[in-house]
Amino acid sequence: MKTIRLNNGVMMPAVGFGVYQIAPEATERAVGDALEVGYRMIDTAASYFNEEQVGNAIRSSGLKREELFVTTKLWVQDYEYDDALRAFDRSMKALGLDYLDLFLLHKPYGNYYAAWRELEKLHDEGIIRAIGVSNFDPGRLIDLIEFNEITPAVNQIETHLLCQRQIAHQWMEKYHVRHMAYAPLGQGHKNEMFENPAVAEIAKVHGKTPAQIALRFLMQNDVIVIPKSAHEERIKENFNIFDFMLSASEMEQLRSMDTATPMIGDPENPEKTEFAMTW
Ligand code: NAD
Repeated sequence: MKTIRLNNGVMMPAVGFGVYQIAPEATERAVGDALEVGYRMIDTAASYFNEEQVGNAIRSSGLKREELFVTTKLWVQDYEYDDALRAFDRSMKALGLDYLDLFLLHKPYGNYYAAWRELEKLHDEGIIRAIGVSNFDPGRLIDLIEFNEITPAVNQIETHLLCQRQIAHQWMEKYHVRHMAYAPLGQGHKNEMFENPAVAEIAKVHGKTPAQIALRFLMQNDVIVIPKSAHEERIKENFNIFDFMLSASEMEQLRSMDTATPMIGDPENPEKTEFAMTW
């Protein structure tokens, strides 16, 4: 398992398992399958309503707590000072954990400065090993960094072959913020990336699937990936990306697929902003 060093020295797995849109009743089995296959990082959120089932799967796995890396996220309605602490406690109770590996501000809306300062305190108390953000564009990220004590360890943003975030990646590198890709498979609903002839050809050369090529490309670019699937075979497939290497020319070919246009999570899109407020 490849690991990544965060800006505070904490190591985290480069590949994790995402549980967005996995129904609560399916989550325990899916996370159990993922842990069985070898995933050690799980990415959930208060707004996914499946933290409790993630916690159940962790306990049933028999794995030691220190072998696992658990990420959850604070939702925007809980950003005011006391709300953030209460929401953190709720998440910890649901997960059944006494410390958290990574806590993220889910979106850059509302009083995220207040929320960030509460996260800083929890981090200083040692209850959270690393804190970070999600859906922050480079401008907002720099603003948050400049006016606070702790630089976010990661920024989790939509990233996949069709929206590679090359410019955002450079800014994150400059400020020592790790790039974590959500929707690394483009949520599967737009299969353009899997049907692309270059991806199919590269997959054939390596005896891999297009999904594995899409994930390996991001991993080779130092991007942390958290693919989601509720199906055992795909859960296995998405983890099986450590035994091959894309060449420089294959990486270049894949880089040229970038449209630089987010299709899922653009925080500056007013319709997405309105939608987030109704969650
Ligand atoms: P994803 O890109 O991981 O795509 C998942 C979908 O891809 C599946 O539902 C399935 O349709 C398809 N798929 C999965 N494995 C496949 C395979 N091997 N071959 C072909 N198709 C396959 O999308 P996601 O779940 O939205 O993103 C991953 C994780 O990122 C989430 O589960 C969540 O943890 C996180 N996330 C975070 C945010 C945020 O705002 N921070 C937003 C979205 C997702």
